[in-house]
Amino acid sequence: MPKNSRQNLYRKIPSITKLLDQKSTHDILARYSRPFVVRSITEVLEEFRNQIEAGVLDAGRLEEQLQNLDALIQERIAAKLSPSLQEVINATGVVIYTNAGRSPIARGVFNEVAKTVTGYTNLEYDLELGKRGHRDLHFETRVKGLLGCEAATVCNNAAAALLLILNTLALGKKVLVSRGELIEIGGSFRLPAIMEKSGALLKEVGTTNKTKPSDYREGIDSDTALILKVHPSNYQIVGFTQQPSLVELVEIAKEAGLPLVYDVGSGYLFQTPHPFLATEPTVSDALSAGTDLICFSGDKLLGGPQAGLILGRQDLVTRIRRNPLMRALRVDKITYSALEWTLMEYEKGDYVRTLPIWQLMSQTLEEVRKRAEALIREIAVDDLEISLQEGFSVTGGGSAPEEQFPTCLLSLVSSRWTPNQIEETLRRHTPPILCRIQEDRVLLDLRTVFPEQDAVTAASINQLFG
Ligand SMILES: *Cc1c(COP(=O)(O)O)cnc(C)c1O
Repeated sequence: MPKNSRQNLYRKIPSITKLLDQKSTHDILARYSRPFVVRSITEVLEEFRNQIEAGVLDAGRLEEQLQNLDALIQERIAAKLSPSLQEVINATGVVIYTNAGRSPIARGVFNEVAKTVTGYTNLEYDLELGKRGHRDLHFETRVKGLLGCEAATVCNNAAAALLLILNTLALGKKVLVSRGELIEIGGSFRLPAIMEKSGALLKEVGTTNKTKPSDYREGIDSDTALILKVHPSNYQIVGFTQQPSLVELVEIAKEAGLPLVYDVGSGYLFQTPHPFLATEPTVSDALSAGTDLICFSGDKLLGGPQAGLILGRQDLVTRIRRNPLMRALRVDKITYSALEWTLMEYEKGDYVRTLPIWQLMSQTLEEVRKRAEALIREIAVDDLEISLQEGFSVTGGGSAPEEQFPTCLLSLVSSRWTPNQIEETLRRHTPPILCRIQEDRVLLDLRTVFPEQDAVTAASINQLFG
């Protein structure tokens, strides 16, 4: 388009002042804040200019759009008022999926939390003594009852827990870690980096594949503050390997008079009858082996809110609580309440039935298959060929790296759309549906889709590809 005819088009776009004076805009201004309306209108007008610039809006199309301006502004406002953080349907088969918010909060738990935190609470008020109390008490009593530890505290997440532990107990001193356990999780959690920020000095012992009890013994000197064991929760070293058992490590730490700290990562409290978690370390085993301090996430296998739990020896927990960093990393009443109600499900023995991750993990292959068969019957799309195939779900989220469990997958292929196009269409839908692509097929794993989402999943596929 020649430059001067573009100029003519730009001139047809009304000014924001003029639009704000119009009767129709007054109605909008009565319902929303003025700066918000101004921002929305500015964006719509800006888009016109961009489209003229790009040559995709000619005089006729612009005229149409201007006739329709009120509706366009209303649409823009509606879009801006829809939340960015939203519910998605997780059909990836990754149960604890960090990018999808890790463990969903149980609805029963959430309802109780909502009741509690929408009013005032006794967060730091001891109702029996009528004076200031400690916020940890609400959850510490339950953790002690469930696991038999001496003391417990909680902070923002497991990374914060480690930072606090190291900064409190090992500032300027050495911390022994096996070279086989220098983990990175999800890109931003790197053990050596956290160690550095904590002010503790990393002292690596052993080799990547083999660390012997003697490596720890020989690594200890008068500058050593503690021994740290880290669960390699997202990888496995196989073949010619060796790591001292936890019992051996406890012994080495005792001999040296040093605390043994264990980052178990996933927060698998105690063994459940689920065979696929057989190799995941449990918090209760780690405690009974004599570990001095244990830390783990609240939103992995515990099935609760994001949090970093620290349990173990009273004297060590007390020192951690007194660290000024604790004030910066502490959690709020929403987290305490969600943790408490989640732990109560464990006390009742109901958690496998009531906490979402456990509900999803404990579905049998047959149950998933039945749902997949029912869902296929609901789908009628000519250009999409849908079949069932067996495959595996994973726990994910830095837990049980070697554990896969059998599931039944919906497999989508099409001569009309590529797997990437299908994946993108599903992802950009409302609600977004997340899936995976494997060997040129789009795979949906219903294990991680809540049964009440089956109908909307089928309807979405019909609508998107029909
Ligand atoms: C997941 C994990 C962490 C990090 O936990 P966040 O709660 O995300 O901070 C640390 N250590 C181990 C072993 C983990 O598995």
